[in-house]
Amino acid sequence: MKIILNNTDLNKALENIKLLGFVPTMGFLHNGHVSLIKKSKKICKKTIVSIFINPTQFNNKNDFKKYPKNLNNDLKILKKNKVDFVYIPKVKDIYNFKRKVKIKINSNDQILCAKFRKNHFEGVLDVMDRFVKIIKPIKIFMGEKDFQQIYLVKKFIEQKYKSKIISCKTIRDEENLPLSSRNFLLSKTDISNARNVSQELIKLKRQFKIKKIPKNFLLNKKKNLEKEFKIKIDYLELRKLKNLYNSKKILNSRFFIAYHINHVRLIDNF
Ligand code: AMP
Repeated sequence: MKIILNNTDLNKALENIKLLGFVPTMGFLHNGHVSLIKKSKKICKKTIVSIFINPTQFNNKNDFKKYPKNLNNDLKILKKNKVDFVYIPKVKDIYNFKRKVKIKINSNDQILCAKFRKNHFEGVLDVMDRFVKIIKPIKIFMGEKDFQQIYLVKKFIEQKYKSKIISCKTIRDEENLPLSSRNFLLSKTDISNARNVSQELIKLKRQFKIKKIPKNFLLNKKKNLEKEFKIKIDYLELRKLKNLYNSKKILNSRFFIAYHINHVRLIDNF
């Protein structure tokens, strides 16, 4: 496994590499990340994983500061999974040119996390654009846990580059909580409440398998969940998978939730 710390070494290492799979991460790796790596190794000849906590996608300084890190353990996991290249750039390696035209999310897409985390996806698209330009992967592996992220990155990257986005299933713990680096910041009670929230989404999906969701149902549900699990919900919405438009039926749709639990923001979709 080659550890690469700057762009010059990256260019050298990737000079003759074809059919490269790319797994972008912010580190503090878990089995969700490992599932993307496994998929890349299965489909692509070589796999590169990046570890970079991208400052421009954080709309909250404190969230950026307290984002969990453990590089030694990350490297152990990557080695064990026989990753070919790990790219750990500095901010100056990624933000080495200024854009003439700012990246913007169009008004139709200013929903869900785009609405509640100002400039978050602009930062995600900016960093993905910079990564793809230098890494030139044929495939990029991303998790459905961050569904809106895949939706926006796919739209942006695939019309600009040849790279294809491959979406990968959400990996959950034994009680249905999606694995997330941020779970590390939670207490036992928080984890238990967060698991309950995910299970509520599953119940909703079952409850409305064949009938339409009544008007205001989700608004009331949101209030109840906030009370029951001591959380503050940014949104609880049913949206179509294809275009993320609002939906009233389960068919081809998913529930999306974002909430704050003890100052940690979690998302899920089911
Ligand atoms: P992150 O390090 O949180 O930025 O995540 C890096 C990539 O891993 C993103 O494409 C995420 O969607 C994906 N990912 C994070 N958690 C999970 C999970 N539980 N299951 C599958 N993919 C995940």
